[in-house]
Amino acid sequence: MKGRHGVAPFDPVVAPAPSPVDLHTHTRRSDGVLEPAELVAQAAAAGVRTLAITDHDSLAAWRELLAADAVPAGVSLIPGVEINAVAGGRDGFWEGELHVLGFGMDPDDAPFEAALHSQRQQRRRRFDRILARLRELGMPIDEEVEQLSIGHDDALGRPTVARALIARGHAESVEDAFRRWLGHGQPAWAPRGGLGPREAIRAIRAAGGLPVLAHFGEARQRIGVVRELVEAGLGGLEVHYRGWERATVESVASVADELRLVATGGSDYHGDLGPYAQTHALLWVPSSVGDRLREALRPANA
Ligand SMILES: [Zn+2]
Ligand SMILES: [Zn+2]
Repeated sequence: MKGRHGVAPFDPVVAPAPSPVDLHTHTRRSDGVLEPAELVAQAAAAGVRTLAITDHDSLAAWRELLAADAVPAGVSLIPGVEINAVAGGRDGFWEGELHVLGFGMDPDDAPFEAALHSQRQQRRRRFDRILARLRELGMPIDEEVEQLSIGHDDALGRPTVARALIARGHAESVEDAFRRWLGHGQPAWAPRGGLGPREAIRAIRAAGGLPVLAHFGEARQRIGVVRELVEAGLGGLEVHYRGWERATVESVASVADELRLVATGGSDYHGDLGPYAQTHALLWVPSSVGDRLREALRPANA
């Protein structure tokens, strides 16, 4: 159905029940707001039974929760990570990046941890450059950043800078901070270094994980890009994504089917838009998605 001006009205995905699966979330170990234990507790309370914390460049949350025996009964927590890969030389990608999720890596794999550590160092360098630009712009936020109590090995990201900018009255929301200051080409933007998409895919595979292309809504229109990544070892596509309309989910699902990729899905919850339950209410990932991911990971873990 087309609207009055020929533009189809937004047709959101409506969750028929509380989503039992969320395979894309962030905590304070990267650029999220909640502590890992708070996130799993809130997700469990919302009805999630298969959960992955996919902090940027870090498996710290998974390790902490397992070590503290803090995963609620009935919740299956899959080791996860998100690598924001620099697409380099390719035009038209959001922020010049492709995001690769990894599931089921061996958390004790030393080369993988070394790769993630190097990614986190690159993040810190970029973070410091952004803070320096803001100082030059007469907007020092070092104190606020300090108060956000960032651990020395956490995977820092721009949402944390955005929260500090909001605290100082320089922006109204994280989105607004990106639009005015932090987004690609804005006054405080700084380039990202680190792994490219192929290298990220290979690193995840080498650690026994399944690499999945995140929130690539244009998968059908740019299927050539997806095919190239499949050749490099890509094994899945994020098909269900909070906020996507039905047509986008169906279009990305058709690419996953065609290329025999494992379909995943999640909220990409960071915590800026309120408690987890609020975001979760807008998410629909069928339980079959969690089952298929576990099946796909089984041979690697056997
Ligand atoms: Zn992402
Ligand atoms: Zn994410």
